Amino acid sequence: MSPSGAELLREIKGRIDEVDPAAVHEQMNNGATIVDVRETEEFAAGHIPGAKHVPRGYLESRIEGAVPDRAQHVILYCASGNRSAYAARTLIDDLGYENVESMLGGITLWKDRGYEVDVPKTLTAEQRERYSRHLLLDEVGLEGQQKLLDAKVLLLGAGGLGSPAALYLAAAGVGTLGIVDNDTVDLSNLQRQVIHSTDRIGVSKVDSAEQTINALNPDVRVIKHEVRLDATNIMKILPGYDIVVDGLDNFPTRYLLNDASVRLKIPVVSAAILGFEGQLSVFKPYDGPCYRCLFPVPPPAELAPSCGANGVLGVLPGTMGLLQATEVIKLILDEGEPLIGRLLMYDALAARVTEVKVRRDPDCPICSREPDSIGDEELGVFPDYEAFCAGAH
Ligand SMILES: [Zn+2]
Repeated sequence: MSPSGAELLREIKGRIDEVDPAAVHEQMNNGATIVDVRETEEFAAGHIPGAKHVPRGYLESRIEGAVPDRAQHVILYCASGNRSAYAARTLIDDLGYENVESMLGGITLWKDRGYEVDVPKTLTAEQRERYSRHLLLDEVGLEGQQKLLDAKVLLLGAGGLGSPAALYLAAAGVGTLGIVDNDTVDLSNLQRQVIHSTDRIGVSKVDSAEQTINALNPDVRVIKHEVRLDATNIMKILPGYDIVVDGLDNFPTRYLLNDASVRLKIPVVSAAILGFEGQLSVFKPYDGPCYRCLFPVPPPAELAPSCGANGVLGVLPGTMGLLQATEVIKLILDEGEPLIGRLLMYDALAARVTEVKVRRDPDCPICSREPDSIGDEELGVFPDYEAFCAGAH
């Protein structure tokens, strides 16, 4: 008569070595290979950090791939210690592994002892549907979409450039969007600032942007900074963000942003527009030039857009803002060739894009130095702006 399941298990457990989770915890980083023999869904719900996954049903076909050396110390575990005992017997008796143990009590006891468990992040069914066109791309996929969801991007301004950038970054699933703006929605904004709407005239731009983003994608958390960015608040706002989208309309704040972002080593995706022309570049501190390397002195005052109201073709900030969003996503995914050390110029009337190389200035007053040596009093040092604008007339 063949033995019952309980008898067989007892017999097997008598022949294999069982080890306590405490011993496994000690062996974790000590040369032993830990193998989880549970089913895929069980492994995905949480496993011992660094464990390899070979479901018991695939032991014979897959263990060689996970543990090629039969003399290697292997510790198997399952939920409670029974399946791993059977698996240990298979490894020893049928597959010739020499140093195999089974963890007592499985991951249940491991957790009871308070040891660490890795829970891989997964997308919900709704997220898999929402981001399905991203998941089909090798360059994005599940891992890339997770990076986007984990990313924290700060938009300076919910205006012409910030509106399209924020909309598309939100749609792409960038998980945290900070917005700095202290303005309210004005009728004259709506020709290009597409995140706002006619019924929100007079509403603060950060509230209006948040409303649109929440309606578009509930995965996105909006952090509102309803202030004007200046030297007193920049070092409080920037830390913690991965990337800054610069849609600023004035040079003094651009220099301030540059100096603070170099000090904090946060890349800035910067765009500027005037009339029918746009410019774009990515300033990644210490990887390429900074804004001061490119513009050691401010451009001539008559070209400074913030010295008064200037005309702009409504779609132009849309084009440039989406190029910014594209660069942001490339940086998050670490894919493609970011626009570092290159200045892209777009002439909408001519339908022409040109590009110039920009080099780091070895004598740059900011990025030629160590970040920690840049003092608070040096941030955004710039000629008096009122006088600067007056020079234009
Ligand atoms: Zn520089």
